[in-house]
Amino acid sequence: MEPTEKQQRFLRNLPGVDSLLELAWKDTFFDQVPKTVVKRAVRRVIDGTRDQIMANEPTDLLKTGILMEKVKAVVNNAMTPNLRRVVNATGVVVHTNLGRSLLAKEAVSRLAEIAATYSNLEFDISKGKRGLRYSLVEDLLCEISGAEAAMVVNNNAGAVLVCLDTLARGREVIVSRGELVEIGGSFRIPDVMAKSGGILKEVGTTNRTHLGDYEDALTNETGLLLKVHTSNYSVVGFTADVPLKTLVALGRQYHLPVMEDLGSGTFVDFSRFGLEKEPTVQESVASGADIVTFSGDKLLGGPQSGLIVGKKDIIEGIRKNPLTRALRIDKLTLSALESTLRIYRDMDRAVEEIPTLRLLARPLSDIEKSAVHLAEMLKDIGDSRLDAGIRDDVSKAGGGSLPLLELPSKCIGIRVEGMSANRLEKQMRLNTPPIIGRIEEDLFIIDLRTVLEDDVSIICQGVARMLKKE
Ligand SMILES: *Cc1c(COP(=O)(O)O)cnc(C)c1O
Repeated sequence: MEPTEKQQRFLRNLPGVDSLLELAWKDTFFDQVPKTVVKRAVRRVIDGTRDQIMANEPTDLLKTGILMEKVKAVVNNAMTPNLRRVVNATGVVVHTNLGRSLLAKEAVSRLAEIAATYSNLEFDISKGKRGLRYSLVEDLLCEISGAEAAMVVNNNAGAVLVCLDTLARGREVIVSRGELVEIGGSFRIPDVMAKSGGILKEVGTTNRTHLGDYEDALTNETGLLLKVHTSNYSVVGFTADVPLKTLVALGRQYHLPVMEDLGSGTFVDFSRFGLEKEPTVQESVASGADIVTFSGDKLLGGPQSGLIVGKKDIIEGIRKNPLTRALRIDKLTLSALESTLRIYRDMDRAVEEIPTLRLLARPLSDIEKSAVHLAEMLKDIGDSRLDAGIRDDVSKAGGGSLPLLELPSKCIGIRVEGMSANRLEKQMRLNTPPIIGRIEEDLFIIDLRTVLEDDVSIICQGVARMLKKE
């Protein structure tokens, strides 16, 4: 559309890129900013203003001072790292959108060292020749899980893919209809199966599958029996599924390998914290499964990775699969994974030092202490518009694990006079660092379970800053 006369006048008055840049070079604010960043910001602000003129927005947009403020805001944004720390006040321990698992302190310091130095990533120091990167964690994985052999890829989706591709390309894979899992981010068992070249053969019904269903589906084309742990949902009521042990017996009888995708694999029996029982990796291995896959960064609390444990000959086959090269993990992950696995040699230590486990097992009295502390700090701000009270609530495990689990927790519900809960949530989210909570009954809820020690004062400062601005 042609600009109107008024719009044409505004466009003529719009400062050019060069004149704004000239101002910028004189301003010490931009001293430490790369020139290309400043130039891009100026262009963006001018383009944006031109669009606003065409949309008939107010005229003071053209004042140079206002434009420069906008340029500074754009520059500030561009100079802030995109991936940054946030305060997880959601109470969801393994929060997929907020980085899933936090690494243990020891894993972090080892990782920092390995990142900055050369390492024996693929070098066998005792033999003085090339080594296998997987060998760095294989022994540990075998020691903890009881398996014969182990290997690692980039994530569990990759682990499932490479296992199916190795064991079942062009052959039928029998899976219960109750286990055709979809997890977030478009991982669906039927789709991964298709990509791997395995042919999905569904048996049973959504709520009940029996041994006979598997048996009836066996043909000469069968290549694998697959069990998938329904880690992010639960089929309740009139249900039946075939235990791994029974499937293993069937597999033995017909000389077929049996695989289990555990998803949120854990080495720790959660019932020891009074939580819902999750099948452990050790139990799956002891049941005789030929191959077991699980995530490194769900309940395990390590870095993103896909762990594969099982029979030696099968792991050998997987290692030779070219997909393994495409899915291989890097040295930083490997270092963090090794450190995390080492901690698991002592389960009590694991629960203390691995943040995911510590937060899941965190005693209510400890969460309450933190809630009382935060409530007091908020009160000390001394703003009568602020109302912050302690509430009982429940937190979730998250990360597609323990779907029915509700962990009793303590929360602070915040209300600010004259401010909607939505606006409050947004202001907290835009804080530096962002504070991510949830809205419930017109309150902004901070669940203290996942609020780390340093986070308490960050939240308090964030609230104080926001009150000052309002
Ligand atoms: C989470 C999950 C996966 C995928 O694991 P990622 O590590 O996220 O790739 C696969 N299968 C099941 C059952 C899962 O729960």
